[in-house]
Amino acid sequence: MRIKKGDTVLIISGKDRGKKSKVLKTLPKDFKIVVEGANITKKHRRPRKSGEKGQKVEIPAPMDVSNVKLVCPKCGKPVRVGYKFVGEKKLRVCKECGEET
Ligand SMILES: [Zn+2]
Repeated sequence: MRIKKGDTVLIISGKDRGKKSKVLKTLPKDFKIVVEGANITKKHRRPRKSGEKGQKVEIPAPMDVSNVKLVCPKCGKPVRVGYKFVGEKKLRVCKECGEET
């Protein structure tokens, strides 16, 4: 996967299009990611104890990784990424500025 946890991404499709946010979680098997504050679903949480109120919790649901673009931490633009090898190490690089991301 080209997107990692902690990345800043720009959402390019869906209802949150245009939003920039942080990747909270990646689900590489499904090619999905969870982005902070994006693709929000509301869930109702039942009270655990009597006397406690039920709460509505807003949870970001996983979205397809193809819906986002990485925002390069070096040049600040939404970019495509490539890879280069330095010795044994595979580095992710920005196709815009060529910097390692
Ligand atoms: Zn860049």
